[in-house]
Amino acid sequence: MDIKEYIDTLPLKAVRPRADGTYTVIPRMHGGILDAEQLTAITKVVQDNGLPQVRITAGQQLLIDSVPEDRLEAVIEALGAVGAAYRHKALGCLGTAGCKLGQQDSQSVAVRLSELLETFTMPTKVKAGVSGCSMCCSESMVRDVGLIGRKRGWTVVFGGNAGKRVRQGDVLAEDVSEDEAFAILGRALALYAENGKKKERTARFVERVGLDAVREAAFNER
Ligand code: SF4
Repeated sequence: MDIKEYIDTLPLKAVRPRADGTYTVIPRMHGGILDAEQLTAITKVVQDNGLPQVRITAGQQLLIDSVPEDRLEAVIEALGAVGAAYRHKALGCLGTAGCKLGQQDSQSVAVRLSELLETFTMPTKVKAGVSGCSMCCSESMVRDVGLIGRKRGWTVVFGGNAGKRVRQGDVLAEDVSEDEAFAILGRALALYAENGKKKERTARFVERVGLDAVREAAFNER
């Protein structure tokens, strides 16, 4: 099996070629968290293979840099699981787990949201941000899907985008419980999954079908 065939057997984007002929490798993480065992394994891989560094990506992943082609299989074998845990990722800030301003547990909710996103076949990637308070450190207003924790519950946001055509997401609900927020988002996402065009992000989808249609789906329990 040549190197390209080998990479194709791995989760999408777990290994990427660099311009200098080496590769980057992403060890699998859940919700931006690594336990001591994973950290030890990563440190050992870096030291044993004489690798220069690891980096943190914008998507809260740890990335092992500059892995030579002849060390790639050994590195991946030593790491165990590689690649993003979910196709669609929800980023969570520290929230009540580690920030004094946190009003809701954004980390566990981000994992729950990632799991919800996996239940759909989406037209394209979905970026989600879960913030533990209105400071919005996970940029929830400019994600495809956003949740913002407040004292009385969650604000639910849909249709944001921080790309070249920036769009502030629309607030679908405020001060709802976690379960209510997930029910509302689940119905809005079902509409998007069923009716979104290929590669159409939620921002463009809302612009095309109209916010009323999204709101109607989000609050219609069918
Ligand atoms: S959004 Fe709020 S809770 Fe989350 S890290 Fe920022 S300040 Fe802290």
